[in-house]
Amino acid sequence: MDSQQLTTLTGVIDKKMNRQLKQYMDICARCAICKDACHQYVGTGDFKYLPARRAELIRQIYKKYFTKAGEFVPALYEARDPDENLLEELYDSAYACTGCRRCMYYCPFSIDTAWILSVAKAILIAAGMGNEMLGQLADAAIFKGDNAEMFHDVMISGFEDIQEEVRQITGNPQAEVPVNKQGADILYVALAGAHSIRPAAVIFEEAGESWTISMFEAANYGFFYGDAEKARLITKRYIDEAVRLGVKEIVVPECGHAYRVAEYFYEAWSKEPMPFKVSHILEKVDEYIKAGRITVDKGRIEGKVTYHDPCQIGRNGGLFEQPRDIVKAVTDDFVDLAPNREKQWCCGGGGGIVAMEEFKKTRLASGIKKVEQLKASGASVLACPCENCRLQIEELNEIHELGLEIWQVIDLVVAAMPLPGNESASE
Ligand code: SF4
Ligand code: SF4
Repeated sequence: MDSQQLTTLTGVIDKKMNRQLKQYMDICARCAICKDACHQYVGTGDFKYLPARRAELIRQIYKKYFTKAGEFVPALYEARDPDENLLEELYDSAYACTGCRRCMYYCPFSIDTAWILSVAKAILIAAGMGNEMLGQLADAAIFKGDNAEMFHDVMISGFEDIQEEVRQITGNPQAEVPVNKQGADILYVALAGAHSIRPAAVIFEEAGESWTISMFEAANYGFFYGDAEKARLITKRYIDEAVRLGVKEIVVPECGHAYRVAEYFYEAWSKEPMPFKVSHILEKVDEYIKAGRITVDKGRIEGKVTYHDPCQIGRNGGLFEQPRDIVKAVTDDFVDLAPNREKQWCCGGGGGIVAMEEFKKTRLASGIKKVEQLKASGASVLACPCENCRLQIEELNEIHELGLEIWQVIDLVVAAMPLPGNESASE
């Protein structure tokens, strides 16, 4: 690595290292408690996936360039240059990590390895070693934001098709999927695809909600890629729309990272307060059920139902009870996974890993704890409010022949509503 590259990399560390992160550089006791918390280490037994080891790679560079002891006696203080070997290992450690933060929950010092690895991703991007697929997906989303008119007609036609389905499901020929409706109370920032819009539209319609949709979806590959500026620009597309439409609230769909980005990260990236409330769709659905704004019947969902806490919604987002209350409103036959809530095992599919083919073997091996939990539950139906988790668990379901029906929570809700066409809504 030449001196110019080294200056760039150390500059990234210097910029990212705030007081909290510097503390993480000092306090790891090497107790290795985190090894039993990480589904990837447990599932693969590979030393490079041990959380403390992943963070250690950043510590080694930090010690070399930001501590006197590491600078002068590197061998003694385990300080190291960011050579090619180190960066290659860092790439595997950082991009394989699903950002579940289960290791942080169990670490006696609450060391946030996922945060440390966000510095690792920034270093890799500066070194030209960021994940190509995630980078391309992030760039494509930014391009779409800059060229929205190119996609306008095809998207409007898709929304019209969904509106037709909503009319059939609700039996209401006036039901709408409002697009860019000025002055609506809620902007629902869906994922790409009818599956994310149709059940939400049915629920909003039945609840008599004032809502709208826009041209921009919630998925954020800039966040997975590890580039805060790209992530900010992708989020800004729908924030700007929400401001322009004058909504009071943004509602994010069943997508773990989208919730965390909107609720927790955007203000930090943009350094501006969010001018509206951010809610998760399941907070709204729980509200509607409890307020009697929508009706759900028990008995329409067959089989024992369980619930998976997506890491970004549960452990990292604090939404534990609302989704459970919703599921318990549609069935009396509910069983929780063990462990659950803060201690829930990551399914292995978060952090953008489902989009990176090179980690497929690691990803599937690391789902073993989820498979064990699902088998032990005896459930035949899984409610799972995150697209990445669903993709991963669907694959595990097939490989391990679990025989599970896997549902979005909002699909379960629509199927439990006394509507003329609810069967077709739950396809
Ligand atoms: S549990 Fe915390 S202190 Fe112990 S090795 Fe892991 S990161 Fe370090
Ligand atoms: S955040 Fe999750 S995947 Fe990443 S090191 Fe910690 S436990 Fe493992």
